[in-house]
Amino acid sequence: MRSARRISALPPYLFAELDKKVSAAKAKGVDVISFGIGDPDRPTPAHIVEAGRQAMADPATHQYPSYYGMPELRESIARYYQRRFGVTLDPKTQVLPLIGSKEGIAHLATAFVDPGEGVLVQDPGYPVYNTATMLAGGRAIPVPLTAADGFVPQLGRIPAEDVAASKVLWINFPSNPTSAVCTPEFMADAVRFSADNDLLLAHDAAYVELTYDGYVAPSVLQAPGALDHAIEFGSLSKTYNMTGWRIGWVVGAAEGIEAIGRVKTNIDSGIFNALQRAGIAALDGPQDCIEENIAVYKRRRDVVVGALNSGGIPVEAPKGAIYVWVPVPEGHTSVSFCQLLLDEAGVVVAPGSGYGAHGEGFVRFSLTLADDRVDEGMDRVLKAMKG
Ligand SMILES: *Cc1c(COP(=O)(O)O)cnc(C)c1O
Repeated sequence: MRSARRISALPPYLFAELDKKVSAAKAKGVDVISFGIGDPDRPTPAHIVEAGRQAMADPATHQYPSYYGMPELRESIARYYQRRFGVTLDPKTQVLPLIGSKEGIAHLATAFVDPGEGVLVQDPGYPVYNTATMLAGGRAIPVPLTAADGFVPQLGRIPAEDVAASKVLWINFPSNPTSAVCTPEFMADAVRFSADNDLLLAHDAAYVELTYDGYVAPSVLQAPGALDHAIEFGSLSKTYNMTGWRIGWVVGAAEGIEAIGRVKTNIDSGIFNALQRAGIAALDGPQDCIEENIAVYKRRRDVVVGALNSGGIPVEAPKGAIYVWVPVPEGHTSVSFCQLLLDEAGVVVAPGSGYGAHGEGFVRFSLTLADDRVDEGMDRVLKAMKG
């Protein structure tokens, strides 16, 4: 049996080595506390579960769903954009529901990238932009993010030949893994830059509703001209604790939506109709569950940041997303610091180098574990650093 070159070309799973060490520690009886994965620990709000439960009992939901999603769900997504961002979308041509936004992020590469063509990706960044580009035969070109620039890409510094070789520019704010946020002015610059260079601007807005301290995250579609050059991926996963349900969407420039829809109809199906009804309940229903999520993450964020600062690691409290991005102490690499925390504290964090070469020198603490585990984990981290 011989698998395709495109599979063997994928980068090795950086967390595999760490997973092995975590299993070994657990086997030795260590009570491991994991700040490793970004998967909300809190349940989906009850009114959303109830809408899904009722819909599931209705045989009308049991057949193949439409590839393009129920009109009611598309309209609900368009209403959300109007209400939240003041952006008017045509539910027929500018909205496409997805089986989680990751699905569409992967389809984008198939839809827009021919072999050898470039895709500009934030480094460090969510690995799927990169791997989907590689699977399509394209070339992911890293745009370095640095602490000095607040982990916001400096578009003017991208080498001209890299811009000329590229079809797509990816951005993600609030960001995974850095939790960086951006201004509406940056969004407007990114749209202008993409228009000037004939790029599709793709914004991953997975964390747009999870922000702190009065910061409100913009949509790229609020920027002038965005509906001609940009698309935006959204998801119920993080906002409503629904990672397992698989509902997301892509909205924006009709040409982009059409191209992704063409890939989608050929290789997968629509979202289970009962889950679409639950999605409508999430978007149209009471929104206080988001405030509750924010309050919980904010508390955990402050515990993590406070402990790290007491331990002599300077970190600022992030204004968005569900991560704390932490520079490793001098003399450490991302992986050696992860190893130290596992050995000395029984605590798992994600090595920054897993998110791109420019993530080296950092680790990511996720805030998606129970409050008491956050408290105990950070007590242990602080002891390990002082000891
Ligand atoms: C979690 C996450 C998503 C959401 O993925 P879904 O497929 O919608 O669950 C998208 N982008 C980033 C950067 C994420 O961290």
